[in-house]
Amino acid sequence: MKEAVRHLPPIHELQNDDRFQNLIISYSLSAELLTELIQEHIQRIRNELLKGIYKDLNPSKEVIMDDLFNDVEKACGKFNETYLRQVINATGTVLHTNLGRARLSEEAISQVVNVARSYSNLEYNLEKGTRGSRHDIIEDLLIKVTGAEAAMVVNNNAAAVYFILRAFANNKNVIVSRGQLIEIGGSFRISSIMEESGANLIEVGTTNKTHLYDYENAVDENTAMIMKIHTSNFKTIGFTKSVETKELVELCNDKEQVIFYEDLGSGVLFDYKQYSVGDEPVVAEVLQHGADLVSFSGDKLLGGPQAGIIAGKKALIDKLKKHQLARVLRVDKMTFAALEATLQAYLRGGEYAKTIPAIRDITDTKGEIKVRAQKFVGLLNQVTSYYDIAILEDFSQVGGGTMPDVVLPTYVVAIRPQSITVEELASKLRQTSPAVIARVKNDMLLLDFRTITEEEIQVLVSIFKDQF
Ligand SMILES: *Cc1c(COP(=O)(O)O)cnc(C)c1O
Repeated sequence: MKEAVRHLPPIHELQNDDRFQNLIISYSLSAELLTELIQEHIQRIRNELLKGIYKDLNPSKEVIMDDLFNDVEKACGKFNETYLRQVINATGTVLHTNLGRARLSEEAISQVVNVARSYSNLEYNLEKGTRGSRHDIIEDLLIKVTGAEAAMVVNNNAAAVYFILRAFANNKNVIVSRGQLIEIGGSFRISSIMEESGANLIEVGTTNKTHLYDYENAVDENTAMIMKIHTSNFKTIGFTKSVETKELVELCNDKEQVIFYEDLGSGVLFDYKQYSVGDEPVVAEVLQHGADLVSFSGDKLLGGPQAGIIAGKKALIDKLKKHQLARVLRVDKMTFAALEATLQAYLRGGEYAKTIPAIRDITDTKGEIKVRAQKFVGLLNQVTSYYDIAILEDFSQVGGGTMPDVVLPTYVVAIRPQSITVEELASKLRQTSPAVIARVKNDMLLLDFRTITEEEIQVLVSIFKDQF
């Protein structure tokens, strides 16, 4: 038994090897951590030698040391790898939930970096030299872009829904149309959130039709709220009826103490309708109709960081700000930084909104997309002839559970590798750095240039070249 492990080097000999110092320097690791890693690998080799399953039946000390340092180096590499990695989204789906939804604008990115690097006036009033509130940071900006009396920011829109129901309808009734009891990706159900919040769900109407009288008949002294939910991720077509915000607002105004709250889901500040994209209600319009409260996501069609924005009547928002849950659901300074810079782009108006990547990508024209696709193909053809390539017309999606019925005409580069399958190519591309996520259809890999930026073209060319 002993015989098998007699060439295992002792730890001090490994520590005195040049390679030990080199690894410490190359990978920025402490000697203690590296020693631990080496001990783990010695233990593995020892076990393999004793069981007679080591790759070499009678290895010399040098062979073992080479093997060991090779393996340890691989393990060292892992310490410099982060789990979150850059991905080139070649799916064409602009708000891809699995790929992090909205990309931030350059202004938002640099503002995040500034605030992360330095101290900031997050909760400090620079004018008065006193403690400030983080709820005041971008309230003015939110008021300007939505037209609301007041506004605040929480962790995400799911948190906003929960918060509003908990604060205003705990143990009370909330009336919702059956047609709007949606489930959003990741099994988030409005009905479950409502249950968690302590509100009693009163369902009215049917899946396809809900009338004003359905709501009227359901209102009683236990009613705290009528809630309308934007059916972001599906459409009912045909024999349907839902009640307009305006009518529900009037009904709530007639009944004292009944709040009208609309969960807008995506909540757009930019009118995509003017580009003939979808029919999302603009937040300001809903508030103009008199909604007491609305909430929406920061990282869907708004194109900012993950956040939930609550806007509406000042008296209600003030109550929320003072509620204990405001602390539980509060957002970080980096979120405020990104959101502030994003909202400023809306305030500037006009074309400035297109500095926000989600808006730029969704409104991008086929012509502009084709130029990028052609540039990629031209460059790729210069460096490799390994792939069969064609530029085809196709459709991209908005994604993020928004505008489910909208298809955006686009151009894709269809690629077929010559000696491996398309699935094998797709799998290889998921391991590159940055990783590339593309669509596979009809035995072709499709790169949709709607979501591929000018800067990413050269990177993509190098990645494709390096695969063979
Ligand atoms: C997406 C969505 C939510 C959840 O928003 P998050 O920001 O993802 O938490 C809630 N309600 C509706 C209608 C939605 O579309």
